[in-house]
Amino acid sequence: MFKHILLAFDSSDHARKAAELAGNVARQQQPPALVRVVYAADPIPTDLGEPYFSEVTARRSLAWQDILDEAAKLVGPGLDVHTELLFGSAAEEIIQVAGIRQCDLIVMGTRGLGALRGLLLGSHTQKVMSHAHCPVLAVR
Ligand code: ATP
Ligand code: MG
Repeated sequence: MFKHILLAFDSSDHARKAAELAGNVARQQQPPALVRVVYAADPIPTDLGEPYFSEVTARRSLAWQDILDEAAKLVGPGLDVHTELLFGSAAEEIIQVAGIRQCDLIVMGTRGLGALRGLLLGSHTQKVMSHAHCPVLAVR
C-alpha cells in the first residue's frame, strides 16, 4: 500500500520510536517501501564571517550527519533508505519534501525535543497533520 515513507527525525525519544515503526511498516509493504529520512537543521548565519562560518559549518555538519545516521540505523535492515538534510522550519520543510517527493505516508513523533511536556502534540506535528497532502502517523 505504501511505496514511499517520509520519516521526520529529530533524535527525540518519540522520533526514535517513529523510526523503528517506519522501518517495520516499510518492511511489511510488498515490495518494501522506500524510507526517506529528513532532519531540518537551523541555518548557520552567514554574517558570522570567516573563518567562523566554515568552522561552525564543519562542526555542525558532523552532528547533522550523526542524527541522520542514527535514524537510518533505527529504521533497520533490508530497506532502501535515503537521508536528506533540510534547512528551516521542520514542519514546512517536511510538508514541502513530502509533496515534491510524492511520499504517501509521513511518520513522526507526537512530541519532539521541546520542553513543554504538557502538550499532546508538538507544534511541528500539529502543523504537518493539518497541512500534509498524505496520511500522517504520529508515534508516541
Ligand atoms: P515544539 O517544537 O513545538 O516546542 P516538540 O519538540 O515537543 O514541541 P515537535 O517539534 O512538533 O514537538 O516534534 C514532533 C516530531 O516532529 C518529532 O518527534 C519529529 O518526528 C518531528 N520533528 C521535530 N523537529 C524536527 C526537525 N528539526 N527535523 C525533522 N523532524 C522534526
Ligand atoms: Mg520541536
